[in-house]
Amino acid sequence: MNRPIRTTCPYCGVGCGVLAAVAADGTTEIRGDSEHPANFGRLCSKGAALGETLGHSERLLHPEVRGKACDWNTALDAVANGFARAIREHGPDSVAFYVSGQLLTEDYYVANKLMKGFIGSANIDTNSRLCMSSSVAGHQRAFGSDTVPGNYQDLELATLIVLIGSNTAWCHPVIYQRIRAAKEKNPDLKIVVIDPRQTATSEIADLHLPVKPGSDALLFNGLLAYLHDRGDSNTHFVDAFTEGMQPALDAAHACAPSTAAVASGCGLREQDVTRFYLWFSVNEKTVSVYSQGINQTSSGTDKVNAIINCHLLTGRIGRPGMGPFSVTGQPNAMGGREVGGLANQLAAHMNFDAGNVDRVRRFWNSSNVAQRPGLKAVDLFRAVGEGKIKALWIMATNPAVSLPDADRVREALAQCEFVVVSDCVRATDTTAYAHVLLPASAWGEKNGTVTNSERRISRQRAFLEPAGEARPDWWIVSEVARRMGYAQAFDYHSPADIFREHAALSGFENDGKRDFDLGALATLADAEYEGFSPIQWPVPRDRPQGTPRMFADGRFYTENHKARFVAVTPRGPFNEKDDEYPLALNTGRVRDHWHTLTRTGLSPRLSGHIVEPFAEIHPQDARQHGIKDGTLVSLATRWGEMLARARVTETQRPGSVFAPIHWNDQYARRARADALVNPATDPVSGQPEFKHTPVNVTPY
Ligand code: SF4
Repeated sequence: MNRPIRTTCPYCGVGCGVLAAVAADGTTEIRGDSEHPANFGRLCSKGAALGETLGHSERLLHPEVRGKACDWNTALDAVANGFARAIREHGPDSVAFYVSGQLLTEDYYVANKLMKGFIGSANIDTNSRLCMSSSVAGHQRAFGSDTVPGNYQDLELATLIVLIGSNTAWCHPVIYQRIRAAKEKNPDLKIVVIDPRQTATSEIADLHLPVKPGSDALLFNGLLAYLHDRGDSNTHFVDAFTEGMQPALDAAHACAPSTAAVASGCGLREQDVTRFYLWFSVNEKTVSVYSQGINQTSSGTDKVNAIINCHLLTGRIGRPGMGPFSVTGQPNAMGGREVGGLANQLAAHMNFDAGNVDRVRRFWNSSNVAQRPGLKAVDLFRAVGEGKIKALWIMATNPAVSLPDADRVREALAQCEFVVVSDCVRATDTTAYAHVLLPASAWGEKNGTVTNSERRISRQRAFLEPAGEARPDWWIVSEVARRMGYAQAFDYHSPADIFREHAALSGFENDGKRDFDLGALATLADAEYEGFSPIQWPVPRDRPQGTPRMFADGRFYTENHKARFVAVTPRGPFNEKDDEYPLALNTGRVRDHWHTLTRTGLSPRLSGHIVEPFAEIHPQDARQHGIKDGTLVSLATRWGEMLARARVTETQRPGSVFAPIHWNDQYARRARADALVNPATDPVSGQPEFKHTPVNVTPY
């Protein structure tokens, strides 16, 4: 067995440390890294099975142009020429990149720099748009910056944990393990789960609130009014460090005049709502953890702010054991946010203000920096379908399965003039539409950094040789950039080169003005980068030890440094149920699969947990629609249809149906749940509404 290599798990945003050791027979032993502060040695089923997913049978091993294997030079020339031609003939906004929270920060940085810094368009967006962009927008509205205030240790210090729209037990399992261990140690720790479904997470709940889908903002507006009326406001904090409380309170009182009104609007028992409000009132050490059930709705940003408002009113932020806490879905969703991988961010947590554009222009020494935001994911693929995007490069993601209204995405890709896909997998629903395929290195072969949900930057380290001719994504993008005439700006020789530049840009003319600052890491030697220990940003020059918690000093990143309450008027889903589509479809993950199965589908152990697509439906709805447990059903919406095995269960709230997102045409026919999802988006964040699409379910 070779010496174990210290790296991180490539699945969820918990960001667990992993020790990977390759045996003489080529198998890889995986263990949790007991020294990594995210997991202290724990792993979930997916992380523990990583060694079973490293085979080459499904890998893309060689570059291909129009279906024919070729050498790298031919493929890279084809990409550079295809993009250059579209830009020459139709302008920079006729091209786009669609990237992924699976990329390492260094990959992300060069892709963002090429598009926004040198091509001169901001048409680069990431699949992280689908998972946490409403949290980003909510943070920016409240704090003036996209900052997660606390860390995982706060979960162990809290006396109340509120889990909102999060099946933590399945989707962030090691966070769940830490919460469960904290509860075993301190039986007085209260746990409230707010979720329309009764999930594995509700098993440790002292109180489960099965809210009516979409009513979370009403519940938290009601909490804000309750806390204020009970005299729980932290008046010193509110007066000194916040603004806008009164309009937020007025909006809360207007929609939530009483606990009874909230209970009725949320479809809950009044005594349960009162119990939750009382627990929140008396437990100063409260952490509110929220995830996709909040983010993936057409009013996700407002819901995020409704939660943050309650923490601002009580001053419960920035101190141990308390705070609002967005947990991200992907391993490097945070890293993508940091480099500017969202179309509405420029770079290093800077937006498109003229001062930022000028700063980035000078740093990158480019006269062609994008001046305004680009297209967000759903709009980007709509523009592809309308023929406005002539050349599209998709990196490390499978939008033909994962985007809402996925059949329209397929149609868009089918008629796009030039589609490039870089991926480590040969046959996905998306690679089928590529004119050029570029083999990317996979987990275990790549070097770089990722950032987890608690702002902790960790290294991913290679322990395997690249499969076939696979190359790191940063190398592929840099080689295309050179061929497009930007050789000097993309003269990178290693991920360490890129990380140093990324850190330097974050600290450039910063002086504490921006939250994201890695200034102390801008001069890391190669050996220091190799030995890099996990650290929480910001890491400015005067704080090289990093920053476990933010806002302890009550100073925020708004112009006057005050946090902002946001007045929230609750809104229902964009598309309501009707006679034709009488149920609400909610999509999400299962415990042992990841995204579109390209990796976890290779592990028999993981695939054995749940073997086929299913649809959970309440017995009352099943009776009404003539559906029996275990039979095949057809799910149809205005956007698409799928087949699934019915699971009739009381864990599902009446009136709604749950279906997992993972299966696709590579594994099962007519099983793509996202083909059914409406393309409605949050007007602030652009995040799609995966949690509510009107659906009809019939026996097949
Ligand atoms: Fe990997 Fe997330 Fe499981 Fe940790 S919790 S082992 S990061 S999938």
